[in-house]
Amino acid sequence: LSPISNAIQTDAATVLKSVFGFDQFREGQKQVIEQVLSGRDALVLMPTGGGKSLCYQVPALIFPGITVVVSPLISLMKDQVDGLIASGVAATFINSSIPREQLLDIYRQLQDGHFKLLYVAPERLMQLDFIDRLHSLNVSLIAVDEAHCVSHWGHDFRQDYRLLGQLKRHFPNTPMMGLTATADIATRADISQQLALQSPFVFRSSFDRPNIRYNLLAKYKAVDQLIQYVKDQDGSGIVYCNSRAKVDELSVKLAKQGVRCAGYHAGLEPEIREKIQRDFIQDNIDVIVATVAFGMGINKSNVRFVVHFDLPRSIESYYQETGRAGRDGMPAEALLLFDEKDAARIRQWISMGENTERHDIELQKFAAMEAFAEAQTCRRQVLLNYFSEYSAAHCGNCDICVDPPKRFDGTQEAQKVLSCVYRLGQTVASQYVIDVLRGKNHKRIVEQQHDKISTHGIGKEKSDAYWHNIINQLIHQGLLRIDITQGATLKLTEAARPLLKSERQISLAVPRLALDTKKTRKSD
Ligand code: ADP
Ligand code: ZN
Repeated sequence: LSPISNAIQTDAATVLKSVFGFDQFREGQKQVIEQVLSGRDALVLMPTGGGKSLCYQVPALIFPGITVVVSPLISLMKDQVDGLIASGVAATFINSSIPREQLLDIYRQLQDGHFKLLYVAPERLMQLDFIDRLHSLNVSLIAVDEAHCVSHWGHDFRQDYRLLGQLKRHFPNTPMMGLTATADIATRADISQQLALQSPFVFRSSFDRPNIRYNLLAKYKAVDQLIQYVKDQDGSGIVYCNSRAKVDELSVKLAKQGVRCAGYHAGLEPEIREKIQRDFIQDNIDVIVATVAFGMGINKSNVRFVVHFDLPRSIESYYQETGRAGRDGMPAEALLLFDEKDAARIRQWISMGENTERHDIELQKFAAMEAFAEAQTCRRQVLLNYFSEYSAAHCGNCDICVDPPKRFDGTQEAQKVLSCVYRLGQTVASQYVIDVLRGKNHKRIVEQQHDKISTHGIGKEKSDAYWHNIINQLIHQGLLRIDITQGATLKLTEAARPLLKSERQISLAVPRLALDTKKTRKSD
């Protein structure tokens, strides 16, 4: 080591200990800090909780001037700055929540060189007078947090971020770094390009979170499944669903079962949201039912489980949301409740979205998410492969590895379902088909004389859940499709014909109807 890098290292280690109270750098932090201190641009890809903040906070305290941190979330900024101030660091933030008088005060202190770190929202940063103001300061480093927001390929593109590409032009000699917790290959390359990073030092840590068990359960009676699952868990958890109405509904139902829980979404008053977050962090409540509005910037290490009641729109979102479990490194679980019907609906929403430019990208991202849900191979492999982290080994800690799907000749079962759909005129949804298969005699069946057709009762010996699972497999294999334009009715496809005529056979997975999470976890 050269004397200079030696000195830098000593400095960095001293800052780490004296300011942040940590004895050692985590993987990657030291290299990134050294590179940045030497004046080089950097791109840092670390999973949530990996320790990205220190990668710019430590250099900020060593550089002579100020470090500007671009951050998209007001709550996140405030938390970070509060934390820094508590550690004795002169830091501040500027965003739309700051009253004008206070702003002038901050500007004055900036001019006096009082601060080491300035957090700022992207829309503010790109105002010209603000850039001018920055030029009058001694800016040593610019850090762009959540840098994937700059990319069209990212799952969370923000218009405000696009402008950050001009920063490099304004500050060509100032080292700049982008940091993100989630980037597929296309996004990664795009971040560098959009931010105009100059031959950046790229650090990526593994995205594997080995202590998280990935589980998937086919939705069948989703609310009951959720209640059962949550009641079986110990410790804190988050349940994500895709609408505010569902947040309200599910949190009420869980509360009725004695679960200490609260609903959280962007429609609640800020004070209420803050209180819920606090209660969750302090373990006054165990479970948060939330839309995706919840979680960014929540630093709770002992979240034991994350449930996705609805299918997320991209693997990046899924990864980020499940990544909030088990930050303490102790065993944690991610449960995805999956239903083909949801997928069809989401595809339609995406296609109806306002930003037509992005439809194709979003559909592609969603297709990858669906493929993850439908995968019959190790889920961790699928996830890591998506982030170009190829792994040949099976993880032993996902539902597929723990309980590999067993296959059987499903020709007869398939014929039962397909012929039943056919006899019902392809005009009913899956639950009705199942009722007929199971020989139910409820009012509608009797009125329509569906108790008289030949397939009535031929599936008596099996449960609702079993048939739901078989039907989903037939959908995945392209023999049935759901027509969401007609009340989610089941239709036969061309491929169903040879099967109905016994001209071909089909292999199916033996339905797995419940996760015995307690049992599987004990064997860890
Ligand atoms: P990220 O921004 O990547 O999600 P953070 O920077 O918030 O992660 O860090 C996550 C947690 O890890 C924080 O509580 C932080 O204090 C802690 N941490 C970071 N680096 C170290 C380290 N070298 N030693 C111990 N704890 C660390
Ligand atoms: Zn696995």
